[in-house]
Amino acid sequence: MTTVLHVINPATGELVEDVKINSEEQIKAAIERGHRSFKQWAKINAHERARLLKKWSDTIQSNKEEIARVMTLESGKPLRESLGEVDYATSYIDWYAEESKRLYGRTIPANTESKRIVVSRQPVGLVAAITPWNFPAAMMTRKAAPALAAGCTFIVKPAEDTPLTTIKLVELAYEAGIPKDVMQCVNGYGSNVGKVFTDSKYIRKITFTGSTPVGKLLIKNSADTIKHISMELGGHAPVIVAEDADLDLAVAQTFASKFRNAGQTCICANRVLVHESIAKEFAEKLTEEVKKLKVGNGLDEETKVGPLINEKGFDKVVSHVEDAIDKGAQVLCGNEYNANREKGYYFVYPTILTNVNTEMKIMQEETFGPIVPITTFSTLEEAVEIANSTQYGLASYFFTNDYRTGTYLYEQLNFGIVSWNDGNPSAANVPFGGMKESGLGREGGMEGIEPYLETKYLSIGGI
Ligand code: ADP
Repeated sequence: MTTVLHVINPATGELVEDVKINSEEQIKAAIERGHRSFKQWAKINAHERARLLKKWSDTIQSNKEEIARVMTLESGKPLRESLGEVDYATSYIDWYAEESKRLYGRTIPANTESKRIVVSRQPVGLVAAITPWNFPAAMMTRKAAPALAAGCTFIVKPAEDTPLTTIKLVELAYEAGIPKDVMQCVNGYGSNVGKVFTDSKYIRKITFTGSTPVGKLLIKNSADTIKHISMELGGHAPVIVAEDADLDLAVAQTFASKFRNAGQTCICANRVLVHESIAKEFAEKLTEEVKKLKVGNGLDEETKVGPLINEKGFDKVVSHVEDAIDKGAQVLCGNEYNANREKGYYFVYPTILTNVNTEMKIMQEETFGPIVPITTFSTLEEAVEIANSTQYGLASYFFTNDYRTGTYLYEQLNFGIVSWNDGNPSAANVPFGGMKESGLGREGGMEGIEPYLETKYLSIGGI
């Protein structure tokens, strides 16, 4: 049986480092420590918790270059994006350090003179997080920061492909003074660690970012102990470009949304729906930009698009492109690969497909790669129908300068995030999350700390 995770650089196929897999006993012991330390941590006043979180954020910032380099080595994302992700990750810590001081309760007018009613908030208890490989830093802090701010203790299991960034962040938390049992990291395969987490009665909440099938499994397995759950699952984001849209803005923002992390984000533009009167011009302008993208090793300064994370990801992307071409799609650029199965690296060149229809896999499933399928519509009703015809409901985008069109699309689109003339809606101060099979709950903003809190109501009588 393997006792280590081989962390591979997806740009070269070379080993970055081996990480020890924790045994079931070790994970259970970590859970017990997290459970035991909860009482003390929850008692610490909010200002002190905020101070420790800010110190953690500052310590991460002081080590920004090193963290970004590790992130690029294990995830393949361009170094500039990794540096950006470190800022994005600390923005969640800063935000929730402040929010911890604002966990207000309330009083309710009683229905008799002899009673008083008080409502307060308290932390749910020990939280277990399972995080993905596409944003190894930000998906961890987006969970850890509200958990600790609320007074919960925290255990994280990072993705097998990218544990090193998380291990580093947890070390820096200790350096900042966060007690060791309050934040812990365990490593291993998802299904093994996940089962230990869901079986444990000490873990009161599971927070997960990853695929919809795994999310469903975690929800089912959490039923026996009635855990709180937050799920940030798959997406299949539509982009609607209306007839009146500012075309240059639409091209620039679709481009920004699509190629971040080589198209491996759950809010990436996945289906581009352009009004038939401007579709040709839109596709030409986008192709011009996409052809300039340099694909390569993320450590190379010129690189704009890194490799895909692994073979599984590569096979899915290639199968979507091939299926689309078989069913009549035309390739405007890309459809080239630089892959080496033996060495284990997988580059996909940014690809634009036109003549795409809803029968193609690429229009039905999340692709997670640098592919832009473009289809056309003639009426807004038709665009909305196509956009909503998915089990996913995470992010959606539209471009228009007409306020009636904008209002109509905002109201009709069944997505947790609706982005109007904007290709980058993520931020620490906004509620990020999906409808339907894209998830449960929100992360970020004032909503993002709610899932870590219980409401307790006190009824005082005999006054
Ligand atoms: P992807 O297919 O993009 O890797 P996953 O949902 O499989 O997405 O992975 C996201 C996270 O979920 C990773 O940390 C992974 O280890 C974890 N994971 C995978 N399978 C399970 C499982 N059965 N139970 C719990 N966690 C899992």
